[in-house]
Amino acid sequence: MPENIRNNIDQSKAENFLASYAVSQEQSLGRKYSEPACNTRTEYQRDRDRIIHSTAFRRLEYKTQVFINHEGDLYRTRLTHSLEVAQIARSIARALKLNEDLTEAIALAHDLGHTAFGHAGQDALHDCMKNYGGFEHNLQSLRVVDHLEEKYPEFDGLNLTFETREGILKHCSIKNAREMGFIGQRFLDRTQPSIEAQLTNIADAIAYNNHDVDDGLRSGLISIDQLNQIELFSRHYYDVDSRFCDLPEKRKAQEAIRRIINQLVCDLINNTLNNIHDSSIYTLDDVRASQHSVVAFSPIIKSQMMELKSFLHANLYQHEQVNKMSNNAKEVITNLFYKFFKSPELLPKEHREKAFTRKEIGGEDAFARIIADYIAGMTDRYAQIEYRRIN
Ligand code: MG
Repeated sequence: MPENIRNNIDQSKAENFLASYAVSQEQSLGRKYSEPACNTRTEYQRDRDRIIHSTAFRRLEYKTQVFINHEGDLYRTRLTHSLEVAQIARSIARALKLNEDLTEAIALAHDLGHTAFGHAGQDALHDCMKNYGGFEHNLQSLRVVDHLEEKYPEFDGLNLTFETREGILKHCSIKNAREMGFIGQRFLDRTQPSIEAQLTNIADAIAYNNHDVDDGLRSGLISIDQLNQIELFSRHYYDVDSRFCDLPEKRKAQEAIRRIINQLVCDLINNTLNNIHDSSIYTLDDVRASQHSVVAFSPIIKSQMMELKSFLHANLYQHEQVNKMSNNAKEVITNLFYKFFKSPELLPKEHREKAFTRKEIGGEDAFARIIADYIAGMTDRYAQIEYRRIN
């Protein structure tokens, strides 16, 4: 390696020193297919770069978070959601001296397996697949990076490190864990994942609870008066209102959201440091052996987050207008699945051939899985185009 490059890498390592309980690439359990090290990047930077260059990542731009992609240009999509999760997760990782590259890779990949049309799409596909092993977006994200991306000459998938894959697999049933080998083992042993994985999971919740408040207000489906019944929101909104009473409501709400995110992030960092201290966490092994997640909000903030979450469920995700979109999404996904299942000749050539080959080897479950993979990969727009094509 040229001396100047080596110096740069050494420099960045020295500047970005890690806590003793952080994941370091020296301890990595590696990749399924071993590859020579990269001269200019860490292993987790490589993972992040592979994720950013993947097809599934680009598709996130056209997949619904809560509001259908074409309903407005300013609503979050799965892509902007993933970027917000990465931003929040990286801030927390840096403050805790964790591995920021690994954290970023997990955050950017965490929703790669999401279907079109948000949760309605995933629920519909799960219903279709219930006799063939079910469908779960979290498992699908892992499936995307392990099998479905076709970019490299020597292997399917992105051949990511164990630590990034572990972070992507946030939860998993015992039944599925038994079939997944080493990556599923922690669900059988009831051990914890790395702190980087734990924090990305919570950064996901910080991001969506707050951006859904913002998008909910933007859409007019929820109001500031309603939100002011929620402790976490009202406290900040009243503070902003008393200092900047002449500002338009919209701007006051945005400042309140900014302050909420800041409070959540600070609480999470402080409480996690307390947990690390109280539980005598010194190494990654201590993290894994810990009975509970080390990364956690303080009890009071946790209950306030739950209150906000319940509010969003009742007033936004179950809103009549969102339900209308969800019913429509269910119709599209369910129709696509059963049409392809009964008439596989309707599948595009590449998927059709794969479906027939897999059916011969793995029977109907494997056949249904190929159809689910095809549907799960669709953007909102492409699902609608396919729906029109085959109906
Ligand atoms: Mg997410």
